[in-house]
Amino acid sequence: MRFALAGNPNSGKTTLFNSLTGSTAHVGNWPGVTVEKRSGTYKNKKTGERVDIVDLPGIYSLSPYTPEEVISRDFIIDEKPDCVINIIDATNLERNLYLTTQLLEMDVPLVIAINMWDLLQKNGDDIDLKKLSAAIGAPCVAISALKENGLDELMEVALKATSSSRKGTTVLKDTSLGSLINRVSDALQEQEVGNPLFHAVKLVENDQLETQNHKDLLPLVADFKATFNDETFGEDFEALIADARYKYISKNFSTALKHLKEKKKEEGKPHLTLSDKIDRVLTNKWAGIPIFIVILLVIFHLTFSEDFLFLNAANCFGPEGLVTFAGTPFEGLFANGGIQSPGMILANFVNSITGLISGAVASWMEGVEPWAYGLVVDGILAGMFAVIGFLPQILLLFLFFSIMEDSGYMARVAFILDRIFRRFGVTGRAFMPMIMGFGCSVPAMIATRTLVDDRERTATIRVIPFFACGAKMPVIAAVTGALAIQFGIGYADLITAGVYLLGMAVAIISLLVMRSTTLRGKTAPFIMELPAYHLPQFKSLMVHLWDKTKHFIKKAFTIILASTILIWFLQSFTWSWVYISEDSGFQTQDSILASIGMFVSPLFTPLGFGAQLVGSYGWVFAVGILVGLIAKENLMGAFAVIAAAVTGIASDDLSDAEAIAELVQMTGATWPALISFIAFNVLTIPCFAACATAKGELPKGKFHNTVIFWLVVSYIASTIIYVVFSWWWTLFIVLAIALIFIVAVHYFNKWRDSRPAPKVS
Ligand code: GDP
Repeated sequence: MRFALAGNPNSGKTTLFNSLTGSTAHVGNWPGVTVEKRSGTYKNKKTGERVDIVDLPGIYSLSPYTPEEVISRDFIIDEKPDCVINIIDATNLERNLYLTTQLLEMDVPLVIAINMWDLLQKNGDDIDLKKLSAAIGAPCVAISALKENGLDELMEVALKATSSSRKGTTVLKDTSLGSLINRVSDALQEQEVGNPLFHAVKLVENDQLETQNHKDLLPLVADFKATFNDETFGEDFEALIADARYKYISKNFSTALKHLKEKKKEEGKPHLTLSDKIDRVLTNKWAGIPIFIVILLVIFHLTFSEDFLFLNAANCFGPEGLVTFAGTPFEGLFANGGIQSPGMILANFVNSITGLISGAVASWMEGVEPWAYGLVVDGILAGMFAVIGFLPQILLLFLFFSIMEDSGYMARVAFILDRIFRRFGVTGRAFMPMIMGFGCSVPAMIATRTLVDDRERTATIRVIPFFACGAKMPVIAAVTGALAIQFGIGYADLITAGVYLLGMAVAIISLLVMRSTTLRGKTAPFIMELPAYHLPQFKSLMVHLWDKTKHFIKKAFTIILASTILIWFLQSFTWSWVYISEDSGFQTQDSILASIGMFVSPLFTPLGFGAQLVGSYGWVFAVGILVGLIAKENLMGAFAVIAAAVTGIASDDLSDAEAIAELVQMTGATWPALISFIAFNVLTIPCFAACATAKGELPKGKFHNTVIFWLVVSYIASTIIYVVFSWWWTLFIVLAIALIFIVAVHYFNKWRDSRPAPKVS
């Protein structure tokens, strides 16, 4: 037995799938595409019967516009599951039933799982299941995937449904297109095509795939259409059919929905739910965006600040400050001066633990071969722990993002920002992938598939890396820490938030430039569903959190481990394969790594961390950029390893920020150079994994230009930052150049538009 789960995004499919299959879940990819495929086994507790469950991607319709839709329809048609379970969000019945009307047209047993029943009841509503089942012509079962209610009953009903075959039915039969659909369906049946009704409807809809596959029937459809013209929709049959579906749903299905609690209706005023009231504030025309920015700042303060609630700045603990755990390895865990933010406390705690571990390993390995000691302590442990040290803050940041997502707020942000995004030439839909970019560019680039327009999609993929991903965070955090140590510039949280904002600003400017130069085009209209607010559920938060962090953890133990060893090797050996140690007569600046760094470092001179750096270690920042190309987290590992070698201080006695501070002192890098260094890392070519994804997701032939785009943007932005922060008056030069550029593009476009359009024959 094999069942397929189909339903809209956000209907609770993942939750239902996890509840049904538990630990048997297996995640892979659908063949040929990067859409995730989940499958698992359900076991009935009473009968012991097993059923394979395949989770189809979340979709709104079975049209052929996205890979998700094509996968879902092909699976049902070709793989013929024994039953399709259509999961529906009870609190959003009408919208969800749109997909149901399409599934009904297929010749496959269908069971409707009405999910979120708990929410429905809480809202004081009820659905007459008998009435709904009769109207739809398929059994409906009330469930709560989250509370795991009604799941066994659902599976029993589904098993029962498999015993008889089901012929497709359509809600379109009584419409003006009913007779045409019937005739096409009969013709398909004569040709022994499976699922004739479904194909017939799609053919009438002018569905791309169908018109290719059933060319012989096109004249039949065309003859009919020639005599047909709808007043409202003209010849747009797709819109006509969609409209007919919605009309049928609200006339025949929605009547099963009952509002038990009489909702107070004031004269002339529409009834406002709690969600509506919250939305009045959060999506307010004026307050919406400032509120969003404040929320972002609060999140960064909670995660990164070393002076929580600004207690130290307010001098709450007197001149002595608050010192806890003095003399233990946990000294400074909470703060010296104020209190640290929860994120910092967690990070410090993990760092204390890893410090203890590497200390223990170091003393245990004393006396072994120096290269073996170096490999383990300065190579593997230093590199790994530098990355793991940031895990708590990354987890916390992702947790906040998951809360925003699960509560429904993220969808609002997309809505508020649509008004603005439109001016930059993309829809609010582009916001979701961009926000996902804060987690990891890889899934974010895949998520751009919801963008219909190729140019909008290309532009969005190009700016996704500017939304600093989790892996870039350690670099930002460590450099801001070094700024505090070396230059006394505190406010790590504000600088961090500033870097994130810089990324967003560069994204916006790039979008503007691209959409008015190389990727010109109109922006498509944007319609989106705003789910009702709900309190995030702990369980689903954890699921999402794990989903987001697992890539990071996987990378930490594979590619990062491998590359830290490689970096350690390159910086511990000379070209003549001599291990660099005190007795060898060689120093770190003789290493292979140093010579590569020295070779490329002049390239970074305009950015502030190139040839102007002094001493024998001027190349370290160039090396940082290079290793960052493999994976951004590598940078901290590399710096930890190099700083340990440079200072002679064991790497576990140096925090990442201290390591960079040492390097700064050694090289004479200035603070504008450090800020330019962070900016370059945030904006430049992303890691290998993201590049590979971009290559797969971008339209053909766009990848090379994209790489050049990343290089040019990061180079220009960092140069401006370094130059302007070093010599403030250069700001005027920068502004003048920008102005000239804007005017030039404006007049060029005007000239281009004024040319007569090419004739189309
Ligand atoms: P998917 O996009 O269809 O996979 O949806 P998810 O499984 O991620 O669920 C979307 C949101 O709805 C999550 O926040 C879930 O916790 C929540 N959810 C899912 N099922 C239920 C339910 O039965 N009751 C309630 N109250 N929330 C649910």
